[in-house]
Amino acid sequence: MWSRVIGQRRAVGVLQQALAHDRVANTYLFHGPAGSGPRAAALAFGQALLCERRGRPGGPEGDACGTCLACTKAARLIHPDLHVYLPFPKVSSGADKDDRPSDYPERIAQLALEPYAPVDYRQRGALGDDGPSKKQVEHRRRPTNEFLRRDMTFVPAEGRYVVGVMTDADHVRTEAANSLLKLLEEPGPDVVLILTAERVENVLPTILSRCQRVRFDPLPAEAIEEALVARSGVPPGDAGVVARMADGSFTRALEIWSSESVKEKRALALDFVRKAYTGRPELVAPVIQQASTGGREAIKSWLDLVALWVRDLVLAQAVGAEAQLVNVDQADAVHRFVAALPEADLGAMATLVAEATEAIEANGSAGLILPTLAFGLRDAMFGQSSGHLVTPLDAPA
Ligand SMILES: [Zn+2]
Repeated sequence: MWSRVIGQRRAVGVLQQALAHDRVANTYLFHGPAGSGPRAAALAFGQALLCERRGRPGGPEGDACGTCLACTKAARLIHPDLHVYLPFPKVSSGADKDDRPSDYPERIAQLALEPYAPVDYRQRGALGDDGPSKKQVEHRRRPTNEFLRRDMTFVPAEGRYVVGVMTDADHVRTEAANSLLKLLEEPGPDVVLILTAERVENVLPTILSRCQRVRFDPLPAEAIEEALVARSGVPPGDAGVVARMADGSFTRALEIWSSESVKEKRALALDFVRKAYTGRPELVAPVIQQASTGGREAIKSWLDLVALWVRDLVLAQAVGAEAQLVNVDQADAVHRFVAALPEADLGAMATLVAEATEAIEANGSAGLILPTLAFGLRDAMFGQSSGHLVTPLDAPA
């Protein structure tokens, strides 16, 4: 059902109209940032196509009813006429290296529970692991023939359509594209194939020319925040922070929430700002050491949290009690800080954190950059900032 899709009212509206007026194309390309909704919308669209009550007297017109047997099966991704094709890497053992990996059904099951779940092999080499696949993940010829072309040439088993959802259509090997093209050139009358892709320009032009395109935009942080609270039970303070780190992707937000102990990292970020205020190296050093344990990416995401604290301080100073803080659960601390430090140059603080992040990105030494940041922040809090991060190495002798 469309209620499972976060935001994207324009894209959803286009698809609702197509359903309501019975103008459904054979092939769609839902394109936009991964995790912003193309895949979730494809699944909702597929369910609506298969719904037994849609378009019947008393039934919905542009959406699935959500309660008929077909809807129930489609929602659980066990409907015989709804197929999902994720690209997967070659398996390293077994008779056929093009077989679906053993955790494929588990990934589909997770997708049924949460259509934004981080289950792609491209992003996740193994379930329960944060790292991307170390192997190439593309649609190859044999799986495309064996699964997709076979399924899509059947007549519907139960429903009005046979629906295929093929993710990552911008990662199709040329020889797989040829068999996909055959299908697109002569689609069965009941076949609806929905491709999803992050970047239109990476989809082969021959495929692109046969698709009706629907664009998806990055989700606003507010929409992600709301969905984290409502769908995933994330506490509001954490949800605001995670949403702003997620770059418009609800999938990314779920990943951040599950993989990083955001709560601890937030506390550590606040601790850093507080200890920096004391100007005492022996208090700052343990915080820096703890923040530096996870490697460069972890330090960067932690600095993002420091930046969010500073952003809240800026807002609290500018707007006062009405400020829409990210760290809503720490509003008191934020307002107290602003009241206690009337001289603070918050703009300089934000610049310093941004420069520290850049320096870490450029492979700078955390052991050098973070203490420098701490003392830079302290100067800024007392209105004595030079405005830029000056490491001891750059400082005049
Ligand atoms: Zn239904």
